[in-house]
Amino acid sequence: MLRKVENRPVIKLKSPREIGLMREAGRVVALALDRVRKLAVPGVTTADLDAAVAEIFREHGAIPLFRGYPCSVKGKPPFPAVICASVNEQVVHGIPNRRPLRQGDVISIDTGCKLNGWCGDAAVTLAVGAIRPEHQKLLDVTAETLALAIRATARCRTWSEVANLMERYVKSQWMYVIEKFVGHGIGQDMHEEPQVPNFVSKALRKNDIRLEPGLVLAVEPMVALGTKDVRTLDDGWTVETKDRAASAHFEHTVALTTEGPRILTLLDD
Ligand code: MG
Repeated sequence: MLRKVENRPVIKLKSPREIGLMREAGRVVALALDRVRKLAVPGVTTADLDAAVAEIFREHGAIPLFRGYPCSVKGKPPFPAVICASVNEQVVHGIPNRRPLRQGDVISIDTGCKLNGWCGDAAVTLAVGAIRPEHQKLLDVTAETLALAIRATARCRTWSEVANLMERYVKSQWMYVIEKFVGHGIGQDMHEEPQVPNFVSKALRKNDIRLEPGLVLAVEPMVALGTKDVRTLDDGWTVETKDRAASAHFEHTVALTTEGPRILTLLDD
């Protein structure tokens, strides 16, 4: 289904049948993240986690969406892995490697797959063993930012109302919303219109997003303890906080329906 609004990008609304197909892709992503949650203990490497997710996608006949994704930095190679694994001060797009995870690490795992032509995308930040209380608070606040955004889509008319709630909640916890990266529409492509910021951006003020049944969004707040400023490392991918304090990232693929928001990347309905 195509919908064109004057001077606005094309937002492809999904039918209930299409949302059902996206749910199947989302379930495979949820299975993969559930496996990662169980595996992420001290001594395991992010390369091990990557292999485990690749195996789950293979078992289900799903195509990994991240491997081979072109780099936005000129001259840098495409993304080499099935998951992004971002440890501690790394925010997003970390490349899996052979360094064993250590007790006290916080690790963000983001992954997506395409199944029968439809995409699912989700992320979670996990504690490796016992972590510092301020890091646990960061994980809790980021998870709640995602949860409150999803709940808010049931009663808000536009995305800027939701983004405002997300931004205000994070500020009230004395933390920072990362602004360099945003969520996105998702469907037959992983990245579709619209862009979905986790704060009230200038673009949103100019061109707000109407929340309506059929809209499917990957909602993905990134929150940091010390600063919203980030930099990209020489590999062209890994993004870390400028002050190298920890950050967290949670994401779900969410469909707006006449019965309210439906999270497509949960294990069980
Ligand atoms: Mg995403």
